Amino acid sequence: YLQSMPKSETIRLREKHVGAACQLFFRSSPLKIVRGVAQFMYDETGERYLDCINNVAHVGHCHPHVVEAGRNQMSLISTNNRYLHDELVILAERLVKTLPEPLSVCFFVNSGSEANDLALRLARIYTKNKDVVTLDHAYHGHLTSMIDVSPYKLNLPGGPEKPEWVHVAPVPDVYRGKYTYPNDSQSEGELAEMYAVEVDKICKEIVKKNGGVCAFIAESLQSCGGQIIPPDGYMKRVYEHVREASGVCIADEVQVGFGRVGTHMWAFETQDVVPDIVTIGKPMGNGHPVAAVITTPEIAKSFADTGVEYFNTYGGNPVSCAIANAVLDVIEEERLLERATRVGSHLLARCNDLKLKHRLIGDVRGRGLFVGVELVTDRETRTPATAEAKHIINRMREEKILISRDGPDSNVLKFKPPMVFTTQDADRLVDTLDRVLAELDGNRAPVTNLKLEVLVTPISKDMTQSDAIVNKNIQSIKSS
Ligand code: PMP
Repeated sequence: YLQSMPKSETIRLREKHVGAACQLFFRSSPLKIVRGVAQFMYDETGERYLDCINNVAHVGHCHPHVVEAGRNQMSLISTNNRYLHDELVILAERLVKTLPEPLSVCFFVNSGSEANDLALRLARIYTKNKDVVTLDHAYHGHLTSMIDVSPYKLNLPGGPEKPEWVHVAPVPDVYRGKYTYPNDSQSEGELAEMYAVEVDKICKEIVKKNGGVCAFIAESLQSCGGQIIPPDGYMKRVYEHVREASGVCIADEVQVGFGRVGTHMWAFETQDVVPDIVTIGKPMGNGHPVAAVITTPEIAKSFADTGVEYFNTYGGNPVSCAIANAVLDVIEEERLLERATRVGSHLLARCNDLKLKHRLIGDVRGRGLFVGVELVTDRETRTPATAEAKHIINRMREEKILISRDGPDSNVLKFKPPMVFTTQDADRLVDTLDRVLAELDGNRAPVTNLKLEVLVTPISKDMTQSDAIVNKNIQSIKSS
């Protein structure tokens, strides 16, 4: 069924000829995926899997409108961007329309890593500074320059060390980070301030030592770090501190952009900030390699003023641009932001219900179709349930549902499905997870006092930020 050789032969050739550092999902029994349709993927036997993690196949695997756009443009011309082409300028104008002023100048590249690398280059040229502030557990790409600013990949045994020009601030994770809810504060604003002060301290030290900051780079919601939602007001304060230190702010929207958060096209908008440079990728081509950097005319001019031409052989080729335009068409025509808001809040609410049933769930958080479920063996100590998370991923795969885990302790189940995910899909995901968790509950004590009243009591030590949000919602439902 849609394969050139038996799976065993594919495995043999891969082991022989592909670098072992390129790791497979489910290594001991990898999947061979031969076809995709919307939120489903099919293996070589025709078995269908519900895809809950593919944030690249944003408008659904192999969306016919996107496929047709690519096929049509490929049959006409694919060349470099030294020739005029309408698809490129149409794409640039459409992207800029989704962004706040003064973000209005685009550079097209081929991957998220390339976009972030160019962003860093622009920041260096514009500020003439070198020091970069990044967040702990962040990942910004596989290029050498990006590994340097990706603590997720730094200081591993045998891996690269953090360069001295890179400064790591604590990730604003209010469940497991340096300042947590409600131990350090019950106020989101205070927690935001505590985490922002950490960045300020780093910026001030850099200014004292080297005169100024080059850039602060962060995902608007950190994904590799474990689906982290920063407390409200965090980015705003951080951007102020960075700019006071002459730095620019880079928002990495490679994973979380293009409407995944539902309420907005770009996740930074949920924090009410305007970055100086935005990088986008993954969902942009729905699986085709296309990415971009969007910045201000001032920063773009400083780059042009160097007199060095920026040429990128494939960046902005007509096929990539036609595909990216088709992705934007589908986002608009199928109203995928609205869907992400609706299906995402259903998924989040159902995960919160699961938390009431299963002690293994320590925290549930998310925005739109970006949801994380953090597993702990003990809610008081918040000890990561890493082995359990691994078991759950494998059990879900047996149930033909693909999810993955992340975070520094690999104990956060992450959901970031194609945006065509339905409430029925969310129900199937949560019902199955419920069953798998029940198998694991075993002799664990059940959660008691599950009545609504528990949630409307004042914030207790065992409560997390998402509890408080649920609490607030329930209070408002009760009072209406
Ligand atoms: N930034 C973020 C936040 C990412 O998650 C990734 C990829 N996982 C990248 C950048 C790099 O993108 P690419 O793999 O397309 O180079």
